[in-house]
Amino acid sequence: MRTRNVLIATIMNAITKNIVVFLLVMIGVGAFFSLYSHQSIKAQKVGIETVVDQIANESIRKIAVDGEELNIDLKDGTKEVAYKEPNESLSTLLKNFTVDPEKIKKIEIDISDQKKSFWLNTIFSFLLPFLILGFIVFFTIRQLQGVNNRALTFGMSRARQFDPKEMKNKVTFQDVAGAAEAKQELHEVIEFLKDPKKFHDLGAKIPKGVLLIGAPGTGKTLLAKAVAGEADAPFFHVSGSEFIEMFVGVGASRVRDLFARAKKSAPCIIFVDELDAVGRQRGAGLGGSHDEREQTLNQILVEMDGFEPTDNVIVIAATNRPDVLDPALLRPGRFDRRVLIDLPTLIDREAILKVHAKNKPLTSDIDFSRIAQRTPGFSGADLANLLNEAAILVARRDGKEITIGDVFSSIEKVILGPERKGRLISDKEKKITAYHEGGHALISHLLPDSPPVQKISIISRGPAAGYTMNLPTEDRLFRTKKEFQAELAVLLGGYTAEKIIFGDVTTGASDDLKKATRLARKLVMHYGMSEGLGQRTYGEKDDLIFLGREITEQRDYSEKTAEAIDAEISGFINAAHATAQQTIDKYREKLENIVQLLLEKETLEKEEFDALFERTKEE
Ligand code: ADP
Ligand code: ZN
Repeated sequence: MRTRNVLIATIMNAITKNIVVFLLVMIGVGAFFSLYSHQSIKAQKVGIETVVDQIANESIRKIAVDGEELNIDLKDGTKEVAYKEPNESLSTLLKNFTVDPEKIKKIEIDISDQKKSFWLNTIFSFLLPFLILGFIVFFTIRQLQGVNNRALTFGMSRARQFDPKEMKNKVTFQDVAGAAEAKQELHEVIEFLKDPKKFHDLGAKIPKGVLLIGAPGTGKTLLAKAVAGEADAPFFHVSGSEFIEMFVGVGASRVRDLFARAKKSAPCIIFVDELDAVGRQRGAGLGGSHDEREQTLNQILVEMDGFEPTDNVIVIAATNRPDVLDPALLRPGRFDRRVLIDLPTLIDREAILKVHAKNKPLTSDIDFSRIAQRTPGFSGADLANLLNEAAILVARRDGKEITIGDVFSSIEKVILGPERKGRLISDKEKKITAYHEGGHALISHLLPDSPPVQKISIISRGPAAGYTMNLPTEDRLFRTKKEFQAELAVLLGGYTAEKIIFGDVTTGASDDLKKATRLARKLVMHYGMSEGLGQRTYGEKDDLIFLGREITEQRDYSEKTAEAIDAEISGFINAAHATAQQTIDKYREKLENIVQLLLEKETLEKEEFDALFERTKEE
């Protein structure tokens, strides 16, 4: 139905467009003719006697006879018109006037057959409407054909094709830092693409599909490109969402087209980004066009099943939601190889930073391991962006080299938002902020299970009035209950300090409290870390398709247990608050030192902060 409406709209469109063109042409033609006839009006009307005289003077160059009209061109360029009797020929006319025949010979005389021109005129005026009509029809049809052609290309895949052989700076494994396991897994694919025959001869089965699983920005696309680069094989890049259009059937035909194209340039790689856009579990669709998605997915499965081993096409797909993929995609013979790409570890982050620092002027003292330490949870793309931000920062202050300070400021900008130096803060607020952040920092420093403080600041950034950065110096696989308890105490440190010093609390602590509550809930419900409720988890998380993550939590416990959970959560929070309170009471003096220095300098780096404790230790 929709297609037909679209078609009608296009036809109407084409016709109106042509009518406009036609009108323009007609106006042009009209203008031309009116000009032309204007010219003939300009020609002077003369009597036959004058013409005879002019012939005698030899001042006439040419006479064109058109019926009873004589169009005369004089030698000096002027034009004249004279009229004779309709059925009297020019020669008899001139004879009657006894003109010297010798002189007539010198004049170019052009007699157009009146009858012929009459017929021509009639035929032309008869044909003209048909010609115009034909013209319109011709153009309309041509445009419609254009539409048709577009409709044909509609079903064609929009995959972008790269051929590393023709690329100057192709991507190789050298451009991918870290991700050692992933590279290892993909090595086999490269070997195969380089020399498929070797594998076929041995009767070895090569994976048809490799699924790269990882958070956005972890370098999935980069890895796939690097595989193509290493193997010097063509690379077709397509995104899962590009298969889907409003029209049903387009996705499937695009898949067919893509695979046909790929087979022609085999051995090669098809890279499908965002596979989850088409590969979600079938039959679970809540949205409108899931029919289309299913057809597209089916077509992908059909194509992958239809591969002959000799087709030498390998499909690499990327997703960050393997949990929602249709199980059929993961069956043997399809995407049976799965490669997990984690967020980069400390060492990997350092390596990635080095890759992206290559073309940037950095001061020689830059310490990548310290940057890596401050960027836990950053993906490869985040790190690349970080160095870019730092470069922009330097360019803005007209500097020449990027210092580690620039990179640090960029980290804070990326995490917390831009500095808001211009924001007016009263002295009172500044003091409150200093005690709040001091509280966090003091507790983080003193509790053995809490990571060291990297930086404190009371310059507001984004929504935060100040911040304390405390980060572990190494990556860890597991975290202990004691660490979580320390984290809770640190989170409550700001709130507690405010309460002890001012006897009052501000809204500035609300974010801390929210985080603390969420963390405590996790300890009780998911990690089995509460004493009272013991070793089981509560609530089954259910990712509801299309509606984002963790939207529903199925309750698999009773009302009574819910109360117990609440009590346990409060227990964790209260204990953390008590720890914070004790620590601040005991080290009140240190807190005052921190606050004093903070109010003076606004920002303390790790060294300055640590020095504060060293000094007091010696005293
Ligand atoms: P994904 O496809 O997983 O979302 P991309 O491959 O598009 O991520 O990565 C985006 C950018 O991040 C890359 O172009 C690259 O600059 C950078 N990047 C990500 N991972 C790495 C890595 N391991 N080494 C170097 N650069 C990386
Ligand atoms: Zn806080």
